[in-house]
Amino acid sequence: MSNSNSLTTSTASLRSLSHRCDKCGYSTLHKNKLNDHVKYVHDKVRDKRCPLCDAYASSNTSHVYDHIKTAHPESVSSAYRYG
Ligand SMILES: [Zn+2]
Ligand SMILES: [Zn+2]
Repeated sequence: MSNSNSLTTSTASLRSLSHRCDKCGYSTLHKNKLNDHVKYVHDKVRDKRCPLCDAYASSNTSHVYDHIKTAHPESVSSAYRYG
């Protein structure tokens, strides 16, 4: 995985997280992020689709990116650049 983001995680600021997953303890400030987490991690919903061929779907956006990199490498450098 070459996906590196520069998020600096400060443990001191984590105490204000207010939404917690009761299945695994994942917590976040954002209710919609928790909903996404439950959907993708626990319910395994696959609603992230490849916008280029519609043949690929995953529960994880980064898996879709991986697919795009593999199946549509010409598109990565323009529309789907990240990192
Ligand atoms: Zn969870
Ligand atoms: Zn595709």
